[in-house]
Amino acid sequence: MHSSMIGKIEKARRYAQEPDRLSLTGFKATFQGEHDRYAVEYDDGTWRCNCHFFPTWGVCSHTMAIERILGGRLAKPPAEAAPARTAS
Ligand SMILES: [Zn+2]
Repeated sequence: MHSSMIGKIEKARRYAQEPDRLSLTGFKATFQGEHDRYAVEYDDGTWRCNCHFFPTWGVCSHTMAIERILGGRLAKPPAEAAPARTAS
């Protein structure tokens, strides 16, 4: 194998031990619920899910489960990551 590729593979192994390097800014997923499959999307801090619960609350068991599965790998929008505090 080409030596530069070997170096990249070694680096990838090292990176993979450091999951904090990864920040997901968006993805599409299918979530298998108890009765049905749902289409879930995450885009720059905004969730979407096609279940009936989601439109009312803006979150649902599917989006919350995915957040737990990903364990903090989601990139938050700047406003949420550093909430602006007003002195009052
Ligand atoms: Zn849902």
